[in-house]
Amino acid sequence: MADISFSLDGRKALVIGADSGIGLACARAIAGAGADLVIGGIDPAKGDDLAKEIAAASGRAVSYVAVDVTREEQVAAAVDEAVKRLDGLDIAMNNAGIPGWPGAIQDQSAEQFDILFNINVRGAMFGMKYQVPHMLKAGKGSIINLASTAAINGLAYCAPYAASKHAVAGLTKSVALELADKGVRVNAIAPGPVNTGLLASMRAGRMALPSQTGGAKVPMDRVAEPHEMAGAVVWLASDASSYVTGALISLDGGVVAA
Ligand code: NAD
Repeated sequence: MADISFSLDGRKALVIGADSGIGLACARAIAGAGADLVIGGIDPAKGDDLAKEIAAASGRAVSYVAVDVTREEQVAAAVDEAVKRLDGLDIAMNNAGIPGWPGAIQDQSAEQFDILFNINVRGAMFGMKYQVPHMLKAGKGSIINLASTAAINGLAYCAPYAASKHAVAGLTKSVALELADKGVRVNAIAPGPVNTGLLASMRAGRMALPSQTGGAKVPMDRVAEPHEMAGAVVWLASDASSYVTGALISLDGGVVAA
């Protein structure tokens, strides 16, 4: 039987949107599995300390780069900087996202829609645009984007957010097809509710609306903790998922099955 390896030993990884929540938990797990790492985000005051903390815990080289994903030139520069520091790029996670402004469709504004799409959709698109050439050059790589159960199901009173996550799913599948025979795999995870700042503000926004309960019923009857997303991400980054591309992996306590 062939060896199955979940190890990321010696791999070179970039996680964009790693200041908190799911991105931070996955960054910790990716370094813990053996990869050298650059984490990117919009909170440099805290980023260097996070990098030091992950480096100390994992024994890997970990550093921080400031990057606002709404700015294409910053994404390009962050990817270039990561490739320079790591001497290559095997794994990239495009995690940056915001919940937007929960409300009925009649109350949605063009400005808020654009802010949401600029982060959630253009973030993933620009990330891949600049990550892919390095991976193509090496003939290998794994990209993991952040979708949501709202990329599969609708989410009442969060239509722009659900639209943005459906768009991330479309980007993921399309780029996966572009690269399927070139050694580069592209997948997305589709979390259900995860205990982060994003979920708290989305729930608070929805609770403030008439007839809202704050979210869908979860068959497991609890929200996830951020580290519960990390096992699938390490698997997608590793050779153990060598035949997986274009997939949306639900990590949702049963939400999509219900
Ligand atoms: P979070 O608020 O803790 O993390 C969001 C991250 O995105 C932060 O690190 C933040 O700094 C970063 N970010 C925001 N705007 C940015 C920008 N312009 N440039 C660069 N980075 C930026 O929340 P989270 O729940 O960990 O969210 C992470 C991802 O998971 C998001 O894409 C979110 O949509 C997705 N998601 C979350 C849930 C949930 O229930 N928490 C469910 C499904 C999907």
